[in-house]
Amino acid sequence: MACPALPTCGLALAEAERALPSVIDELEKEGLGNKSVSIRMSGCPNSCSRPPVAEIGIIGMSANKYNIYTGGTFEGTKLNKIYKENISGETLASEIKTLLKKN
Ligand code: SF4
Repeated sequence: MACPALPTCGLALAEAERALPSVIDELEKEGLGNKSVSIRMSGCPNSCSRPPVAEIGIIGMSANKYNIYTGGTFEGTKLNKIYKENISGETLASEIKTLLKKN
């Protein structure tokens, strides 16, 4: 799930809705498309798509820079914690790939 972010939301700091599909495409190319995991992405810390409760949360912090959070639950009943800060949009897929291959 992703929030609208750029260009629709005036509060957006980074892409979300337009960026997440390409991240998912990369994961599918790696054979990880059937992993049952919740990934939520937002374009700013207001977190309208609720990344703080996702198993993997991605929050845009500035232009093309994201923090990644891990440890939420699929049902959204637990807050996640910071995993990595200031990751560029181009490396999001490889970071998430690493996480999914660990589990
Ligand atoms: S999380 Fe931020 S960028 Fe996304 S819709 Fe909400 S306010 Fe806009």
